[in-house]
Amino acid sequence: MSEPVIVFDKVKKSYGDFVVINDLDFSVSPGEKVTIIGPSGSGKSTVLRILMTLEKINGGTVYVGGDPLWHERKNGALVAAGESHLRGMRKQLGMVFQQFNLFPHMTVLRNLMEAPRVVLGLSRTEAKERAEELLQLVGLTDHAHKFPGQLSGGQQQRVGIARALAMRPRIMLFDEPTSALDPELVGEVLTVIRRLASEHDLTMLMVTHEMRFAREISDRVCFFDKGRIHEEGTPAEIFGNPQKERTQQFLRAVT
Ligand code: ADP
Ligand code: MG
Repeated sequence: MSEPVIVFDKVKKSYGDFVVINDLDFSVSPGEKVTIIGPSGSGKSTVLRILMTLEKINGGTVYVGGDPLWHERKNGALVAAGESHLRGMRKQLGMVFQQFNLFPHMTVLRNLMEAPRVVLGLSRTEAKERAEELLQLVGLTDHAHKFPGQLSGGQQQRVGIARALAMRPRIMLFDEPTSALDPELVGEVLTVIRRLASEHDLTMLMVTHEMRFAREISDRVCFFDKGRIHEEGTPAEIFGNPQKERTQQFLRAVT
C-alpha cells in the first residue's frame, strides 16, 4: 500500500472552550475518493479548511504528501512553517466551496487564469489555453466571457471546479458543492464531479449530503460526529449495514 497523501495525527482544534476537532486520526491514500458525512456542526468543513491552511490547529500534526503542513524541516529539525512552505503545501490542493467564491468582477475566463498566472507564473497564453481546456471539461466553453453574476448557480459551481483544477492539484476538496443549488441544478454539477472521480490519480475528499452520489463514487465513507470519525467503511458497509446507533440514526434522518 502506498503512503497516505493526507494524514491527520491526533489533531485538535477548538474555539475557546469549544472543541471542534477532537484527537482526530484520519488518512487518505493517493487516488482514493473519500466522502465525509455527518450532522451539521460535527467539524466536517473544519477538516477541509485545516487542509487548505485556512484554520490553524491546536494540537497534533497534519501531513500532506508526507510533509507536515504547519512545520518544515530545517537541518533535520521541525520548525514553524514559513509562508513559502505553506504556499508549496497549498498548491497540492484545490478546494470547491459551497458558496462558489468566484471573483465577481472577473469574467469566467479570467477567474480561471488568475491563480495560474499569479501563483504558478504561467504566461497569458499558457493560462488561457489551460482555462479553455477546463471550460470544455465542465461544458462552459460558450460562457467564457460572461461574469459570474450572469450564470446560473450550477454553472457558477462548474466554474468553481474548473478554477480549482486550473492549479493542477493532486488533491481536490469539495465542501457540500451542491448544497447551495436549486434541486434542478444539482445534477449537472454532480456529473462533472463524477467525471473527475473516474480519474485514477486524483485524490478526492468530499463533504456531501448527496447520499446516493456518495454511495456511487466513494471508495470509503466516514461518518463524522463531534469532531471525530464515529464510523467508517465502504459505501456498502456504511449505507447498507451501519454498525453504530448514531450512524443509523443519522442515515434514517437524511435518506
Ligand atoms: P460542519 O461543516 O460539520 O457543519 P464546521 O466544521 O463548519 O461543521 O463547524 C464545527 C463547529 O465549529 C460548529 O459548531 C461551528 O459553529 C464551530 N465554528 C466554526 N467556525 C467557528 C469560528 N470561527 N468560531 C467559533 N466557532 C466556530
Ligand atoms: Mg460544513
